[in-house]
Amino acid sequence: MSFPKAKKRFGQNFLNDQLVINEITKVINVQQDDIILEIGPGTGALTKNIIPLCKEITLIEIDFGLAMLLKKKLPEQQRINILNIDALDFNPSEFMKNSRFRLVGNLPYNISTPLIFHFLSFSPSVIDMHLMLQKEVVDRIIAQPGQKNYGRLSVMAQYKCDVYKLLDVPASSFQPMPRVQSAFVRLVPNSKKSSKALDEKFLKTLVTQCFSKRRKILKNSLKPYLDNGIELDKIVDLSLRPENISIEEFVGVANKINEWEINNLTKNKDKKFEQI
Ligand code: SAM
Repeated sequence: MSFPKAKKRFGQNFLNDQLVINEITKVINVQQDDIILEIGPGTGALTKNIIPLCKEITLIEIDFGLAMLLKKKLPEQQRINILNIDALDFNPSEFMKNSRFRLVGNLPYNISTPLIFHFLSFSPSVIDMHLMLQKEVVDRIIAQPGQKNYGRLSVMAQYKCDVYKLLDVPASSFQPMPRVQSAFVRLVPNSKKSSKALDEKFLKTLVTQCFSKRRKILKNSLKPYLDNGIELDKIVDLSLRPENISIEEFVGVANKINEWEINNLTKNKDKKFEQI
């Protein structure tokens, strides 16, 4: 296969192993009424396999040259929509006619985490996401409490989604070859999770704060809240480090703090927590 010169700034590593491309297509399991959104189609390695299987596909490609190439290469039909924009600026309500869609992408590794969070913010519209990511990022996404790579990304991804690692993909499957190994993952947004945060933004802040002091036990990192008499010890073992706290426990702590704030700060508007 011949490829255009890869642009590093766009994280271009093109899939060039047809067996891997076919394997990926198989695990996505495209259905004939699926509406697909593909981020970074590049030269269309995956796109070519998906088009015959789905109802409609929208392609978001930041590289003008590649977007033009795809326009020439792919038959211009009503069910193929090619957008030359940054996926981080993409808003489904502008382009997806209120339809629920399935997201697919071999993502540029430098912006994969912000892209995941960007699309999770539209999660009622996203049926599922099938993404090629740096293996190390996938390992963080699927990590369980007690594992070394369990952190903010594990908690927030698993809070919003059911997560499944599907394939390991060696660096030799790409052109040019990246310096890291890759893995293909499925994220399924799940609105029926048993524990629900009262304020998701606060949950994210709390989790970020706890993991920014990874070695500290919760008793220390949650001190400002404990000093205000919030009984967090009833929810979680405060002698543990954040890497040993489950998602349900993080949600429980965040909700307890939120409830305390609702009951107390409204009574005394001037009282504010010191920053952790
Ligand atoms: N899907 C192709 C493949 O598997 O061969 C290309 C994958 S390559 C890793 C990433 C692709 O995403 C490139 O085509 C790149 O131009 C595009 N890209 C990078 N940043 C982007 C962004 N912010 N929005 C949309 N596309 C982007």
